[in-house]
Amino acid sequence: HVTTKPPPTPSPLRNAKFFQANMRILVTGGAGFIGSHLVDRLMENEKNEVIVVDNYFTGSKDNLKKWIGHPRFELIRHDVTETLLVEVDQIYHLACPASPIFYKYNPVKTIKTNVIGTLNMLGLAKRVGARILLTSTSEVYGDPLVHPQDESYWGNVNPIGVRSCYDEGKRVAETLMFDYHRQHGIEIRIARIFNTYGPRMNIDDGRVVSNFIAQAVRGEPLTVQAPGTQTRSFCYVSDMVDGLIRLMEGENTGPINIGNPGEFTMLELAETVKELINPDVEIISVENTPDDPRQRKPDITKAKELLGWEPKIKLRDGLPLMEDDFRTRLGVPRKN
Ligand code: NAD
Ligand code: UDP
Ligand code: UDP
Repeated sequence: HVTTKPPPTPSPLRNAKFFQANMRILVTGGAGFIGSHLVDRLMENEKNEVIVVDNYFTGSKDNLKKWIGHPRFELIRHDVTETLLVEVDQIYHLACPASPIFYKYNPVKTIKTNVIGTLNMLGLAKRVGARILLTSTSEVYGDPLVHPQDESYWGNVNPIGVRSCYDEGKRVAETLMFDYHRQHGIEIRIARIFNTYGPRMNIDDGRVVSNFIAQAVRGEPLTVQAPGTQTRSFCYVSDMVDGLIRLMEGENTGPINIGNPGEFTMLELAETVKELINPDVEIISVENTPDDPRQRKPDITKAKELLGWEPKIKLRDGLPLMEDDFRTRLGVPRKN
């Protein structure tokens, strides 16, 4: 009596899109503002499979709703201060609150996120041989004594101030990145991000562009923190995402400044928002917070030379794009 074996049934998984992906990418903090725009861009490439881990402290599932259920996408509620076991080729490590009101809310947690979170992601990168990109910040320059800031500047940072959990935290994160690179040969990339704005910023985020736009849309006074002559440089989020991907795909470890060198005082920003969004609102002066850097502007020579990158969207063109999103979320249509 001969029994014939049935032919092997192909695994239903084998044909799934899942296995056609040839780059598996982890984005920590992917439910946040920059992270969700990065995920959108990465998902456009059919060869990418994207895993997001986020604890939803400042991010939201809503930012990723168009990808939930997509076969090349996975969303995991996870805190990066805990061990993470996944198999990936690249790690974009963004997890960390970026707005001063949120990172000051629980400063010890902010330090843990920056230090233990980055250590864990480096341990993961080491175990699986992944390349890892850290989103550091212009805050590593502190209240800078050179202007504009290039990457060779070591910064002027208060180690015991209320912003230190964030700026010193990111400085340690950068140190860890370089120590894992030197000691364990991990492939690292460090972006020093300057102020970034665009759709999906938290309405109550507390940062200046989102505050002014929300205030202008609601018809409330624009709150310029004294003296108003302090400067920042604002990069539109699509330019930022483009810079981060170029850095990850390129051959340079960095650190590389990614930001828009257009420099504005907070008063100029308020006047621009008023002119473009609501000429009827008042501009008022309010008290500032401690250790507010007086000026900030990136030197992006390195990004231009090494990544062939420079921002394309001017502030006056980016603000209206953000206005549309804020009007929709605040339920305040345009007047005309
Ligand atoms: P965001 O607050 O919108 O996003 C951060 C995300 O990280 C959120 O989704 C949050 O829930 C998540 N997160 C925070 N702590 C976490 C933890 N312990 N475990 C898991 N997830 C955690 O901020 P963003 O503006 O998108 O910033 C992203 C990154 O870019 C941050 O690392 C930030 O430091 C850096 N950066 C941003 C700016 C800027 O202007 N937006 C400037 C410099 C640097
Ligand atoms: N880690 C992780 N995922 C991994 C590998 C490591 O989260 O896949 C964490 C691990 O919990 C450890 C950290 O990364 O706390 C540093 O790992 P590494 O192997 O460099 O150091 P060690 O475990 O030897 O202290
Ligand atoms: N700022 C302001 N009005 C606000 C919020 C912020 O004038 O409603 C100022 C703040 O004093 C700082 C600048 O805007 O000089 C940028 O602050 P933000 O918190 O956006 O980012 P930072 O670059 O300080 O991290």
